[in-house]
Amino acid sequence: MTAPYTSQQDLTHFINGKAQAATSGRSQAVYNPTTGAVARQVQLASQDDVNAVVAAAQAAFPAWADAPPLRRARVMFKFLELVNAHKEEFAAMLTAEHGKVFTDALGEVARGIDIIEFACGAPQLLKGDFTEQVSTGMDNWTLRQPLGVVAGITPFNFPFMVPMWMAPLAIVTGNAFILKPSERDPSPSLLIAELFKQAGLPDGIFNVLQGDKVAVDGLLNHPDVKALSFVGSTPIAQYIYATGAAKGKRVQALGGAKNHMVVMPDADIEQTVDALIGAAYGSAGERCMAISVAVLVGDVADKIVPKLAERARALKIKNGMELDAEMGPIVTREARDRIEGYIGIGVEEGAKLLVDGRGHKVTGYEDGFFTGGTLFDHVTPAMRIYKEEIFGPVLACVRMADFAAAVQLVNEHEYGNGVACYTSDGNVAREFVRRVQVGMVGINVPIPVPMAWHGFGGWKKSLFGDMHAYGEEGVRFYTKQKSIMQRWPASVAKGAEFVMPTSS
Ligand code: NAD
Repeated sequence: MTAPYTSQQDLTHFINGKAQAATSGRSQAVYNPTTGAVARQVQLASQDDVNAVVAAAQAAFPAWADAPPLRRARVMFKFLELVNAHKEEFAAMLTAEHGKVFTDALGEVARGIDIIEFACGAPQLLKGDFTEQVSTGMDNWTLRQPLGVVAGITPFNFPFMVPMWMAPLAIVTGNAFILKPSERDPSPSLLIAELFKQAGLPDGIFNVLQGDKVAVDGLLNHPDVKALSFVGSTPIAQYIYATGAAKGKRVQALGGAKNHMVVMPDADIEQTVDALIGAAYGSAGERCMAISVAVLVGDVADKIVPKLAERARALKIKNGMELDAEMGPIVTREARDRIEGYIGIGVEEGAKLLVDGRGHKVTGYEDGFFTGGTLFDHVTPAMRIYKEEIFGPVLACVRMADFAAAVQLVNEHEYGNGVACYTSDGNVAREFVRRVQVGMVGINVPIPVPMAWHGFGGWKKSLFGDMHAYGEEGVRFYTKQKSIMQRWPASVAKGAEFVMPTSS
């Protein structure tokens, strides 16, 4: 089955269970990055549209919040079944609008499915705590209740998985959810909406608001939006966090990254090269967990760098629908030009450019937004190509004398999303885990994205807020805790009490 909305030339909102046109008269082109052609238009929200979607969600919320968790979970089980049946359709959509290769897109869908599966356990996740007899004749228990209308604002680079970090848990815990997807690849949001509807989710509980800053600011300022989950670049994450918190909302805002892989002299060279090539150039480096800095300790650099250069030159850069493709195009022409601009900056800064991806052309797709894999050696911490997030297939090699200097380098970077250490020494690995100031750590694992029940989140400028996405922290984020002390008249002591009650 093909969902009706995905074939639309003009992508609309999805409000209260149906497609709804924007009232702004504004729209934006959505490209096929492989061909460079405009594939469709996405309508952009006005403030009236924001008000309409929040009102629909607000109206639907009380009945859904009242539904037993098991009933909500059963809708999620049905949604899981439908998403599984549409895996390939989602993946093809991701390749068509984002550009990532189809096999990688299937992986993105699979990681999103993991979290839907986790959300199916809602009755267990929402079980409260109970202490009998905290005082004579008195019990104390806690329960968790939904917040109301909550919104998720998502980036272009995982148009299926990142919405799944948010919506399934928000919904299964009893909230009404509004997704504001990236305007660069918005189609998956409407297939998600269609499948939630088919799964039996009541209208108004999952909504899609298409748009740009107007939509985001509308949600940020709306008093009925109780919580915002954001994933995107750091400047916007910081803005969302500061503005949302000032308005009294709960906010979790995940930002950008510059992820290092520390390679120790005792690392397995072939495994490390494989890992670096996949983690730096997979999805054309447009992953918040991509490795963009290789920290080569001691004499390992001379063994690794020539192999990296050979492999970077040989990357199979193609239309992502070709099954042997290793890297597809960049999402937009502007993003490609920005990445290639950074390569120029690196050269000016004096880094040694070993492989230059600029101007890469793919036969048959000459207008596509392609760039090749780029490799720099002798990058120093003072360079912009080291400090700033490039978000493309550009790997910077930094040479460090020893383990302590390598860890210090990682710890001094302003981002702290992911990090990896390649070594065959257990003590080095253990020390690395203990000392590194980064939220997600891989030991001989290049991209340590936590599983659905562990929760995802970086440190420093990679996350603003207290709680990580999904996992048990996701459940806590979308619910508020209530604590109840209870006793019954027969056990109430006589007379007013003026002293602090204690356990008796
Ligand atoms: P982005 O910040 O440009 O956009 C993210 C969302 O914010 C989009 O929905 C967009 O419409 C909205 N937005 C953009 N500009 C805005 C503005 N001025 N005001 C209000 N809203 C605005 O990010 P992107 O380019 O779509 O995604 C790439 C970035 O996301 C990278 O920095 C990457 O590291 C980061 N990212 C982080 C994680 C993580 O988990 N930490 C995961 C994925 C992506």
